[in-house]
Amino acid sequence: MDTNIKFRNKLSNVAANPSSNERTPLLRTGDTKLTLSNEQHSSTDSLMFSESLNSLVESSPYRKISVGMSNLLSQKYESLDYDICENKLFLTEQSIAQSKLITENSKGCLPYLQCLNSITRLAIMRWFVICMIGILTASVAILITIAIEEISKYKFAYLKSRVDECKNNKCLFTAYYFWLIFSAVPVAFGSFLVVFVAPVAAGSGIPVIKCYLNGVKVPEVVRLKTLIVKAVGVVTSVVGGLAVGKEGPMIHCGAVIAAGISQGKSTTLKKNCKIFEEFREDHEKRDFVSAGAAAGVAAAFGAPVGGVLFSLEEGASFWNQSLTWRIFFCSMISYFTLNSVLSEYHGHPGQLSYPGLVNFGRFENLDYTFKELPIYMVMGVIGGLLGALYNHLNYMLTVFRMRYVKHPVARIVEAVMVSCVGVTIAYLSTFIHDCCPYESSDVKYPVQLDCENGQYSTFWSIWFQTPEACLRSLLHDSDDIWGVLTLVIFFFAYLVLGCWTYGLSISSGLFIPTLMIGAAWGRLFGVGVSKLTMYMGFSTDSLCYSKFAIVGAAAMLGGVIRMTISLTVILMEALGNITFGLPLMLSVMIAKWIGDIFNEGLYDCHIHLASVPFLEWEPPHFSYTIFATEIMSYPVVCLKCIEKVGFIEHILKTETHNGFPVVEIKEGSYDNIHTFGSYKGLILRWQLIVLLQHKVFLETKQEEELTLKDFRDSYPRHPTIQQIHISPHERNFTIDLTPFMNQSAYTISQRASLPRIFKLFRALGLRHLPVIDDNNSVVGIVTRKDIARFRARKHGKYGLEELQVSLG
Ligand code: ATP
Repeated sequence: MDTNIKFRNKLSNVAANPSSNERTPLLRTGDTKLTLSNEQHSSTDSLMFSESLNSLVESSPYRKISVGMSNLLSQKYESLDYDICENKLFLTEQSIAQSKLITENSKGCLPYLQCLNSITRLAIMRWFVICMIGILTASVAILITIAIEEISKYKFAYLKSRVDECKNNKCLFTAYYFWLIFSAVPVAFGSFLVVFVAPVAAGSGIPVIKCYLNGVKVPEVVRLKTLIVKAVGVVTSVVGGLAVGKEGPMIHCGAVIAAGISQGKSTTLKKNCKIFEEFREDHEKRDFVSAGAAAGVAAAFGAPVGGVLFSLEEGASFWNQSLTWRIFFCSMISYFTLNSVLSEYHGHPGQLSYPGLVNFGRFENLDYTFKELPIYMVMGVIGGLLGALYNHLNYMLTVFRMRYVKHPVARIVEAVMVSCVGVTIAYLSTFIHDCCPYESSDVKYPVQLDCENGQYSTFWSIWFQTPEACLRSLLHDSDDIWGVLTLVIFFFAYLVLGCWTYGLSISSGLFIPTLMIGAAWGRLFGVGVSKLTMYMGFSTDSLCYSKFAIVGAAAMLGGVIRMTISLTVILMEALGNITFGLPLMLSVMIAKWIGDIFNEGLYDCHIHLASVPFLEWEPPHFSYTIFATEIMSYPVVCLKCIEKVGFIEHILKTETHNGFPVVEIKEGSYDNIHTFGSYKGLILRWQLIVLLQHKVFLETKQEEELTLKDFRDSYPRHPTIQQIHISPHERNFTIDLTPFMNQSAYTISQRASLPRIFKLFRALGLRHLPVIDDNNSVVGIVTRKDIARFRARKHGKYGLEELQVSLG
């Protein structure tokens, strides 16, 4: 029988009987057909594996799936391929470049002429692209901040004038109506853009960039329209008065700019500049995206070192020294560009005193004594507890949203509702009589109302400013400005609003609201400590509420997002104070440890709720007894070295897989039902489509004409198989896949354990890993989803949990 037909028969058996789970041998090790490595572990051993595994694995992958479960993996996310495809075309390109270099050297070119050799040219191009990413990221940040400042200026000045007109409180409600309009309209517009134009622009963007750097292709994450919606959306959200910051989205903006610039073309604008073609590969793009994310942090917080550490801590699975240099350079350029332009804009040209979007201001005296450290540690504990509570509430809200707020209009209405509730809470709080003297603060829009002359209402001034300005007041204001009642109301209002806001269909950052909540309870904590020390008769000279506000803010942020190294450095750079580093480190670390006892960081929580096949840093515990044979998929859809066009087309149309092992099948050897031929290489779906598109059929002898450029041109959005026309006549032709397949793609032995496979995927950014037996025959295939399915239970009972795969 024709081997292709045998393949098809195997596949149709599985398709006809999906409940047999034959595609997923895991937990079916008792089934002798699927226990492949008979030499290694007999069926009795396998049964033991299965038993021990069953006690560890908590859920079956085929249980009923309901929306909003965090133990799902979505089939819709594809993987990026960070492994270089070493096919014959690639090797030819390399050897041509090499021989060119040798000829130049033998001609005795002067050193400066050698600058033109391909290696140096590539290096110069890389540095140039990095520089452009830094400049453009800073430019977007500048546009965002100027837009917010100018629109807010107009909004608050107008509202203040309306409130001032109503000194006798009789017409305050008109100011309230205007306030509602000024808030709801921009929020509705921003939400409309997110819902209908670029849903991936919702939120801070940090989770999706984390996923991208981890190797997951989140649809539309680095598109131009996403950048536009993100930038416009963050302006509307901040201007609309929501409890959001503009800093988190900058990281996403930087990443999109990096992905766009480095490719030298825009698919959205249908423009190909025919430059940087060498960078049109996943792994090259990933390096630039890491740099873009770092540039975003540098621009947002004025923290170039924090940016590098952020990319290191949160993203990169792959890291080397030269990449670190480039990322650092990108952050520096971004920091410098933003600083010089904003200093000019604020009327201090050449002073370089506006390093980031968020400006915490200068702190003169942040000295601390040894005695204070335990207090800061206690604050770390509180930060961890509050952070865990915040994440839990937000998790429940997000699940509720995923289940019940699905309609696009409902999502916009919810965003508008949150902005109206925020305005109403703010408006109602202003009726609390809390006045303070003008001299003690530098508020921009002080409202006197029923306060005595020389005083202004604290609450009006809190709400009549951007969140960044409010955070600055919390960190800097003297101890008498924020009364206890004001702080308590502010803390609860922001806790509720911040928690409700994160996850709405708007572009929003998490850093600033979380820092504000932390600064508010930090000040309250300071009040408590000073009362206690006074009561105990100790000196309260060294206690100042600013320090408590800073530590509270750091602890709260650490408790919510659970970043440690980068967060501490970001805060140290943003505060412009290195001496206060130890209290920050202590509080952030302790907050993370405490928070981790209860749940995971908010970004990770959202990643899991989105069912992304995300690979953690480490393989799950207790997984050394799980072997390749138990996690691989079987049977494998393979292609022969010289394959029929009709069969390739059929496979691409009927199968959704993105990678196919290329095998050699010796006549008569195919009867072994466990193997699929001798392994020769791996070819990807999009490569096959390019081959079909260019009709490189053996019979028409066109394969020599195809170069790597043809493959790069179709990157990253390759045509689908439905867009390729193959005539019935052409279906009988054949293609030689050997020059195009990755002939040295990584494979793994069937005896390998899950942690070994996991480390290969994580460290090398793999997409497919064929499993081979001792005779180099393909017996199965493992992809990211196969290993991402296993997760160590983080809470409750220890052990492994197995995630369910959903189609949505
Ligand atoms: P990705 O979507 O990550 O780019 P993919 O589409 O090739 O890769 P997945 O969607 O991860 O593969 O695979 C879904 C399931 O199909 C996995 O269990 C995987 O092991 C299996 N699979 C992948 N490629 C093949 C193949 N060529 N033959 C048989 N099964 C495969």
